[in-house]
Amino acid sequence: MTHTRELRELQACPPAYPFVSVYLNVGHNEQSAEAMRVFVRGQLRQALSEVRSARDRNYLETDARHVFAYLEDVIHARVERSSQGLALFSCAKQKIFQAVGSSASFPSTFVVSDRPYLDPLRFEESEPHNVLACLVDSRSARIMELGAEGALPHTEIQSDVGQHHDHGGWSKMRFQRHVDDQIDHHHREVATALVHISDRQPRSPLVIAGPESVVTGFRSHLPDRVQQRIAVGLPVSLKARDRDIFARILDGFEREGTSPHDRILEQQLDDALSPALGARGTVEVLNAANSHAIRRLYVAPDFQARGWRCGSCGSLGSHVPLTCPFCAGNVEGTDVRPELISKVLASGGEVAPLPTDLNLQQGVVALLRHSVMSGPSAAP
Ligand SMILES: [Zn+2]
Repeated sequence: MTHTRELRELQACPPAYPFVSVYLNVGHNEQSAEAMRVFVRGQLRQALSEVRSARDRNYLETDARHVFAYLEDVIHARVERSSQGLALFSCAKQKIFQAVGSSASFPSTFVVSDRPYLDPLRFEESEPHNVLACLVDSRSARIMELGAEGALPHTEIQSDVGQHHDHGGWSKMRFQRHVDDQIDHHHREVATALVHISDRQPRSPLVIAGPESVVTGFRSHLPDRVQQRIAVGLPVSLKARDRDIFARILDGFEREGTSPHDRILEQQLDDALSPALGARGTVEVLNAANSHAIRRLYVAPDFQARGWRCGSCGSLGSHVPLTCPFCAGNVEGTDVRPELISKVLASGGEVAPLPTDLNLQQGVVALLRHSVMSGPSAAP
């Protein structure tokens, strides 16, 4: 399921506090109905206790009414009858209310920030996409889409390179230059077609396949925005059977990873896992969050933990103390996941899903802005 339109609209919202984002797992039974009500009620009560002004409180109370009204519609099967997951975005200040139903469930998450929290939706978007493949040599080209359903041809281009027989009197060098010009012209034509197709499918990774000398030359005709999306440039002979070429493309594609963007994320995740730049596990990560040191927080989809939150200074921790170790304020038991996400977003950090295939023991990992001295919350 794609939510491209909703994501684009929500991303375009100008920042305004309070902006409420709620993600829920819709079970379509009484138990889950009660669980959703309890979760949202508890989170809203806490959010209301933290608002900075009477005006914000009014907005938040309006958001709460909208969220509860929609939730009751879902519970009574008036809407979202087949949704497994539900995302609600409410910002009364901007008169925004958007519900997004999903065929995949979401871990319960409640975030009040100055913008919508969209990562769980984005994560669901990042399902594998068809590969856009451009098979090119010096006189022909085919552009096609490769996916689970096989190959879907987009376009085929044949140029009469070197077919100019009337070259009497031309020096060999001049003829070669003429052929080179024709190849260049052919590549420009293919590049134009490829740019056109790839701009219409901005999420599909791109593979350029062909003889090595050609692939390099051809790439130089592509604008930066298309070059950046090339997942693999693959040297293959186009004389091979289609099936073999496709197999090599998909094979190479899997080996290379999904996209340059994902590779950057992987690099950041590697940094997050290094002891110098990262924090791992609930205790380390909460400690870093308290120091506003988190540049990017990675949360596993199933990460849940109980902990505490200080009502005065907002610090978080895992083992509930008698009073806040930072300010001696009163602490309350809380679900760590939504609190941690809100805190990182509020201090200007980013939040991303932790890839499930890594099999890490920790449910949370963070990439830090600076290293963190272990504070009181790191103590057992
Ligand atoms: Zn405190």
